[in-house]
Amino acid sequence: MAEIVHSIEELVGRTPLMELVRFQTFEGIHAHILAKLECFNPSGSIKDRAALNMLLTAEASGNIKPGDTIVEQTSGNTGIGIAAFACARGYNVNIFLERGASVERRLLLEAYGVKLLTYKDALGIRTAQESASGWQEPEREALHSEIYSYCEREGYYFLNQACNEANPAAHVKTTGPELWEATDGRIDILVCMAGTGGTGTGLSSFLRSRNPDLKIVLAQPHPDCRITKEHPNVDIIDGVLPAYGVPESELSSFLRPDWSDECIDVRMEEARQTAHKLIRSEGLLMGTSSCAALYAAEVVGARAENEGKNIVVIMPDSGLKYLTTALYR
Ligand code: PMP
Repeated sequence: MAEIVHSIEELVGRTPLMELVRFQTFEGIHAHILAKLECFNPSGSIKDRAALNMLLTAEASGNIKPGDTIVEQTSGNTGIGIAAFACARGYNVNIFLERGASVERRLLLEAYGVKLLTYKDALGIRTAQESASGWQEPEREALHSEIYSYCEREGYYFLNQACNEANPAAHVKTTGPELWEATDGRIDILVCMAGTGGTGTGLSSFLRSRNPDLKIVLAQPHPDCRITKEHPNVDIIDGVLPAYGVPESELSSFLRPDWSDECIDVRMEEARQTAHKLIRSEGLLMGTSSCAALYAAEVVGARAENEGKNIVVIMPDSGLKYLTTALYR
């Protein structure tokens, strides 16, 4: 009976690390590309790790108790994770969904019984002038103080993954050690994208404490696939943001270039082509940020100096959440 689990919380983490042998051959790459398949988490993404850790930490510190309402601002995956764990622990979940989130994410949140808030619920009507920001969607970064005020008024608790230390700590506790063990400590290069930057911050902290020479490459959305005032409906890489070339005043706690050594901009079309090569070579259907990160891993892996090296690429979720998006349409 030792193999029987009794809660979805026990299913978080211990995800597979798969060498993309056929993809490497297909692409003529002589480095080892090791994909951390985070879609194997119970609600289907890497954010289950942060969601569970933030929930348990808030509960342990007495900030929430069953019956309370939790609020989060999310591109989807963190909200889906929180919603899943909240069901079993007896919390209500209200979500501010960021613009550009795929239809599938919205439907999943609704299926989990989440209440989707619109910004007007918290703010009333603001003018574009009041909320505009030059480089990303207007609602996002100006809102934390407003969401805190809203939660205070309503008696809700804002988890705020963007600056909640339990977010990167989840990767120090679980993802980092899993990677270290699976590779016997032989990771040369780590490639990932960043949304809150929790994954990158946590992994760099753990892995560099073991190997200070580890090289970290941040793949970030190319300017062509970022929502701006001029291009509000552009196809985006869901869940991720740029950290390089962004004014210091706009960087947040963990979304910073500091923990990486290099940045590679990835276009939507590059992610899309990589997604289809991955399907054809390995039979793996991965999400947009996974394929964008894999594109960057391929760029790095094709360099002569990286022949034979182990390149870990973080694949945050599967392609099932993107069937209606530009990735697979
Ligand atoms: N990829 C996807 C699909 C995501 O939803 C997220 C989180 N928004 C990330 C990558 C980035 O994760 P993190 O917040 O840990 O930087």
